[in-house]
Amino acid sequence: MTTLAARPSVPSWPSCGLHDASTDGCRGRIVAPYSRCLAHLDQAKRQAYLGDLQPGSDVDHRGTRLTGALLTALLAAVRDGRRASFGAARFSDADFSDDADFDSAAFEGDADFDRAKFNGAARFHWA
Ligand SMILES: [Zn+2]
Repeated sequence: MTTLAARPSVPSWPSCGLHDASTDGCRGRIVAPYSRCLAHLDQAKRQAYLGDLQPGSDVDHRGTRLTGALLTALLAAVRDGRRASFGAARFSDADFSDDADFDSAAFEGDADFDRAKFNGAARFHWA
């Protein structure tokens, strides 16, 4: 039985909203200018988005389900030499389905991981 109370609340950000077998209305933050979250962008759009990122880019993937492969691609997109470098990084309510290795990542702006779910190991090195 589905009750109204059991449904996730509507996120405060523009969300992907994809319905499929794995999600009843994806809460992932859309990746502007597209209408899907990073997890649900098609391959070409995801590559275009990742290709536009630079070391120090701001990222906003609130509510997004991030697999290990997706996170690895994201970290690679902002890599500056040996470490990944984010500007402001918003991952609140994100769902990390594999290990989340931010050990070599730097955050130049605010890093927001409020209510993020880590289903594997989460490694941070706040230096
Ligand atoms: Zn989505």
